[in-house]
Order: sequence, then C-alpha cells, then structure tokens
Amino acid sequence: MDMISENRKVVLIGTGMVGMSYAYALLNQNVCDELVLVDVDRKRAEGEAMDLNHGLAFSGSNMKIYAGSYDDCGDADIVTICAGVAQKPGESRLDLLQRNTAVFRSIIDPVTESGFNGIFLVATNPVDIMTRITAVLSGFNPRRVLGTGTALDTARLRYLLGEYFHVDPRNMHAYVMGEHGDSEFVPWSQAMMATKPVLSICEESNGKYCCEEMERITEEVRGAAQKIIEAKRATYYGIGMALVRITRAIFGNENSVLTVSAMMRGEYGETGVFVGAPCIVNRNGVQRILQLSLSDDEMAKFKASCKTLRTHFDELELQ
Ligand code: NAD
Repeated sequence: MDMISENRKVVLIGTGMVGMSYAYALLNQNVCDELVLVDVDRKRAEGEAMDLNHGLAFSGSNMKIYAGSYDDCGDADIVTICAGVAQKPGESRLDLLQRNTAVFRSIIDPVTESGFNGIFLVATNPVDIMTRITAVLSGFNPRRVLGTGTALDTARLRYLLGEYFHVDPRNMHAYVMGEHGDSEFVPWSQAMMATKPVLSICEESNGKYCCEEMERITEEVRGAAQKIIEAKRATYYGIGMALVRITRAIFGNENSVLTVSAMMRGEYGETGVFVGAPCIVNRNGVQRILQLSLSDDEMAKFKASCKTLRTHFDELELQ
C-alpha cells in the first residue's frame, strides 16, 4: 500500500444520501484524485458520477470521477462503505443489523478478491458492529478497518458546547464515546474549554453555567439523529463531512485525534470490540487508541456500551 502515491484513490460503495454527501464534500475539499462510485443500483452510480462531473468545471479540483465495479478496488487507498438501509423513524440502529449484514456479505468478498490492500472506512449503521463485521469478513488487520464511530456525535457535542459557552467549538475539547447509538456517553471529567475543565467552569460561575445543562447537552447529542430523521427523513451532510475529515487525516498522515470506531486491544480493559474512542488516525489507519483518565462512573458507562455492542455482535453468530 502506497499511501503517499501521487494518485489518492477512493472507492465509494453505496451512492445514497450519505455516500453522495461524502462524494460532494470530497470534491469540494479536493481531498482525493480519483473517486470511483459503486452501487448495487448501477444506474444510480452512473447518474451520480455524471452529476458530479458536471460540477468539475466550477471546482478547484481535477478529480477523476466515474461509476465502476469492485475490480476498481485493487489499487485503491481507501474503500468507504455507505451502502445499506437507512433508519426509519423510531427504528433503532441495532434493528438495522440483520439487513445490513447481508448487504456487507455481498460487498466485502468482492472487495478483498480485487486485491485491495488499503483502509476500510465504514459509515453504515449500526456503525460499530458493521465495522467489526468488515474486519471479520475481510480478515484485515483491524488497524486498517475503522468506522465513523462517534466522530459526528463529537462534532455535535463541540458545537453545542461552543453555543452554550460562547466559545469557538474548536476550542471546546470534549468527546462522545461508546456506541454510536443509545448507549453513547460524554466523559464530562475530560471535557475542557481550552485547558480548563468544563465542570470547574460551571462550579465557579456562580450559577451562570450549570452542570445540569451538560446533561441536557448530552441528551441533545444523543437524540440529534432521530430529530433530524423525523424532520427530513435522513441525516447525511454532517456524516459526509465527518467521513471527509477522516479521509483527510488518512491521506495527510495527520496523526489527528478523532473519535472513530476502532478495535480495542486492552484499552479501557476491553478487547476485540469495535467502539468509538479517541484514536490517533494516520495513513496506517488507527495508529493507536488514547486512554483517557475516565472516572469510575464513566468507565462503567463505557463498559456497558461495549457490552451492548458485544451482545449484538455475538447474536449474529458470524462464522
Ligand atoms: P440510502 O438509502 O440513501 O443509500 C444507500 C445506498 O446503498 C443505496 O444507493 C443502495 O442502492 C445502496 N446499496 C444497498 N445495498 C447495496 C449492496 N448490496 N451493494 C451496494 N450498494 C448497496 O441510505 P443513506 O441515507 O445514504 O444511509 C446509508 C447508511 O449510512 C445507513 O446505514 C445509515 O444508517 C448510515 N448513516 C450513518 C451515520 C453515522 O454517523 N455513522 C449517519 C447517517 C447515516
């Protein structure tokens, strides 16, 4: 795998709302040189390629974009999977599991048979489990298989904290950890404005800011996807940009800290499960996982989230 090659190649599998939001953001941010669109609905992929290509004259990019097949994965650097069925209103992410496992069986085999030797990036829900399924079915080193995890939730959290404290979200350092779903949580002991703990700011503010508001913000982050789905059926721009952020960290060999879904290898006392945690991401994929100094209560929440994910994965009886 030559990630510093001149030609940064991405194969996108699943050209629905999420996949195309990613593709559109890739084009606008000029993040790769070659983008191949693959979908079970070949016509859709072809139409999307045409539509994007017609924007090239207005963009600062000379990206090569075309509808292709799994054979095109052979020399790709990143295969991004957004194929699957989206959540219906009221449906939990875990309900999707059975349907999307069948979809992934039809994708991972032909990708690996193409000789692909790059990095898998997964967005399909339930993302932590779909990422683990990708690792199992491909047999890839788990470092080279990552999911979007709680990257988007973390962006939502930082945005809301920025609003609450009237501070640039980029100076709000806080993470959503655990399952991208109902058992996710915010380790507030680790949330900082610049280098000052958010909880101390609340305590010292004489009531201007309060810790209870932090719980409201957690709930708002947790419920954001359902709220958007109720209003406009699906969420896609935010996740598309989260995928581009991760893609950029890989191609740029950035060693950026992102809360992707990665396989635990003893971190937080967990092994084997794929779950959202702050990771250092570079051209090797997940270079390493950061171990935050979680409180006992936060550690219990992380463990409970991992347990949920492990149970659902085990229920699949994969292989
Ligand atoms: P969509 O229905 O718009 O698109 C799905 C695409 O997958 C369609 O084009 C469909 O033809 C294709 N597809 C289905 N089966 C396929 C197969 N076997 N091979 C190849 N392509 C296949 O759905 P969407 O709104 O784009 O959502 C896609 C996935 O992303 C869903 O699972 C959704 O829950 C997930 N999602 C994840 C996050 C996150 O934070 N990780 C956020 C939003 C959505």
